[in-house]
Formats: sequence, structure tokens, C-alpha cells
Amino acid sequence: MNSLSETYFAEAKKYIPGGVNSPVRAFSSVGLNPVYIDRGEGSRLFDVDGNEYIDYVGSWGPLILGHADKRIQETIQKTIARGTSFGANTEIEVRFARLISEIYPSMERIRMVNSGTEATMSAVRLARGYTGRDKIIKFEGCYHGHGDSFLIKAGSGVLTLGLPGSPGITRGTAADTLIAEYNNLDSVKELLLANKDEIAAVIIEPVMGNAGLILPQEGFLKGLRELTETENTLLIFDEVITGFRLALGGAQQVYGIRPDLTCLGKIIGGGFPVGAFGGARRIMEHLAPEGPVYQAGTLAGNPVAMQAGYRTVQILRDENPYPALEEKGQALERGFKENQSKLGVSFAQNRAGSMFCRFFTGRNVEFYRDAMSADTKLFSRYFAQMLTRGIYMAPSQFETGFVSAAHSLQDIKITIAADYDSLKAVI
Ligand SMILES: *Cc1c(COP(=O)(O)O)cnc(C)c1O
Repeated sequence: MNSLSETYFAEAKKYIPGGVNSPVRAFSSVGLNPVYIDRGEGSRLFDVDGNEYIDYVGSWGPLILGHADKRIQETIQKTIARGTSFGANTEIEVRFARLISEIYPSMERIRMVNSGTEATMSAVRLARGYTGRDKIIKFEGCYHGHGDSFLIKAGSGVLTLGLPGSPGITRGTAADTLIAEYNNLDSVKELLLANKDEIAAVIIEPVMGNAGLILPQEGFLKGLRELTETENTLLIFDEVITGFRLALGGAQQVYGIRPDLTCLGKIIGGGFPVGAFGGARRIMEHLAPEGPVYQAGTLAGNPVAMQAGYRTVQILRDENPYPALEEKGQALERGFKENQSKLGVSFAQNRAGSMFCRFFTGRNVEFYRDAMSADTKLFSRYFAQMLTRGIYMAPSQFETGFVSAAHSLQDIKITIAADYDSLKAVI
């Protein structure tokens, strides 16, 4: 007898490419049938076959408050009763922009879009328009959405599927994207010098969350800030994951760096499709209608999405869940490490607050190439074990796990016990 998830996936493949609307959801890298979700509640997911999971994906980052938060639901319901889209200005987008600007002082002006991809695409277009330069530098393994300029040595699904890039991207576009090594300032310096006055921007995930999880070494981000300033190149922080996640004010708050442009996404929509980019006024005023760089969106600033995002950020600001998230992240890390030593293995474990990743490699993971030494087959077997035990992780070695405010210490305890049994079963 097939499960409902199997039945749905078989049917989906008849109508949707690969059966999914985003590649990693197919579970192809772990060789399993993907799970179809019925509903979520707090830290839990329930699939269509009646299985319950503790969820560490959180819709790939957005759900820092957990699933179906009552306060967000109430806000959405009230808003929807008044209409769902006007394509005109509403007060909430003004209030939300002001709130974000207060939390992110580097974002003096903010434009709302519908996804992280739109935010990064638009930020790079603006950087090119502002500087009059064509090339950008990105880092191997960083993912900035599926815009053409970024699908070169990208992380996330591109990496999971083992693709070096993507067909359909012109040679011209590919040639304008230069690749540096994360945590290697010299690699950036060399590119900046070899392409003097040609680099519009350096774009980076300040904490790399799409090749597993890789943290910036001491001085790396600061050095990047100095180098870009010297070369009149804009520094773009892609904080689509780290924004409102590492801290309310994102990685720029934690590391004390003021980027020229910032991209936000995921948490900012409170579970709805929202992205945003913003930065210094002198740059942002080049956007239409003030300036000549064009960017627009029929559903941008959608009132329902704005209310959900605003309410989420307001709760995060008022309740400050970050110390508790740190505590839960620490507990998970400690438990996973204890399991490893009990079982006599030592895999790399990286963590930043509520973001975590175990790499199935004996090497410390400080560089992208270290992450690449991970045993993805072993990960797949571990993933299947965890899923069977009711723990829903991202189905790829090269993704980051997320703890939410809705996870309890009891959830963490259950997860650590499942981790022990799963590890034991696969090593
Ligand atoms: C998810 C992600 C994006 C893309 O956002 P989408 O909403 O999926 O388009 C961009 N940058 C980073 C760092 C991301 O993690």
C-alpha cells in the first residue's frame, strides 16, 4: 500500500517538473519520497499520513515563531477581511519600513519585494546602476536566490544537486560574476585589483547558511568592509537568512559592520512571500521613481504580507527570544556532541545562535572546501533515520537547521535521543 505522500508525489510528477515547486523539496538527494504536509503547529509538523515531526526546517528559515502562531493568525484574519491587495499605498508599509530602518540603521531607505531572489537581483542592479560598473564578486557556495548573476558556484539546491551552474545563463552574465573564497580576504583582494574600477559590488552571506553552516573568521567581514570601501565597490550583505535570525539586527548587528546595501527575506514575511532591500539614501535614491534604476512589483508591499511581517518583527523586538534561542541551540549542540563522543565519532558541528549544522566529515569546517569533504551518503542515511524517528531536518547535507521560539527544551531532549539512535544506526 502506498502512503498518501507517495500517491501525491506520483501524481505531482505528471503535472509539475520533478513534482515540486522548488528543487530540494523532491528529497532526491536523500533518495526518499518527499513528505506531504497537512499542517503545522508550534514546533511540530503533521504529514498527510498522520506522522508527527519536530521541525528544524521552519519553511527554510522564515518561521522563527513556529507554525501557526495565534498572534500572526489573528493579524492576518483581520487584514484579509478588508481586502487582500490594492496595488496602492497602505499605512502598514510605511510603519514597517520605519521599524526595519530603526532595527537596521544601515537601511536608511527600504524597498519591499516578494522574495529573497527579488531582493538580491534588485540590489545588484542598483549597485550596477549606481557605480556604472558591470561585474560583481560573490563567494563560492553562497546562495543568493535564483537570479542569473548568482547561479555560478551557488549553494543550496544548486549545490545539493551537484550543479556547477545552470544552463540558460548567458556567457556574458556568467563572465560578470567573479568567484572568491569565503574566509579568504586575499582571494577578494586579487579580484578587486585584477578588475580595477570594474566591480560594482561584493555580495555575501555574512554567515554562510547555504553550504551547510560556515561562520566568518575573526576580521574577515571587517576586512571585506575596508577593501570594498577602498575600491569604491559596494558591500551587499545578503541577510535573507541571518536577518532577524542571528539577532534582531542580523549579522550586521552581531559583527558591527555597516554594509552599503542589505537584502532581507524569509523571517521578514512572517510566513508570507516577502523580501526587502535597502541601504544608504545616496544609493537608494537612484531607484525609480526618484532615479533611473528601474524596479517594481504588482504585489510588492502586499498588505496581508506586510501585516504578518510587521507583527512578527514586532513580537521579536518586544519579546527578545534570542537569549532563549541561543540556549536551545547550545543544548542541541552539546547533546549532539555528547552523542558523538559516546559513539566514538567526531564530526564537525557548526552553530550560530539558532542555526546549526553537523557535517559528516572529521575536518573542521571553516572553508567551503571543508564542507565539500562531507560524506553525503552517510548524511542521507542519517536523515532517513531521523525522519523515521519523527525529526524533520532539511533533506540535504548543505543546508542549515533552524531552532524556533516554539521549540521547547523537551523537544530538544527528544531530538538528542533520536540523534543518538540515528547516529548509532548509520556509523
Ligand atoms: C533563501 C535565500 C535567498 C532566496 O530567497 P527566496 O525567497 O527563496 O527567493 C537569497 N539569499 C539567501 C541567503 C537565502 O538563504
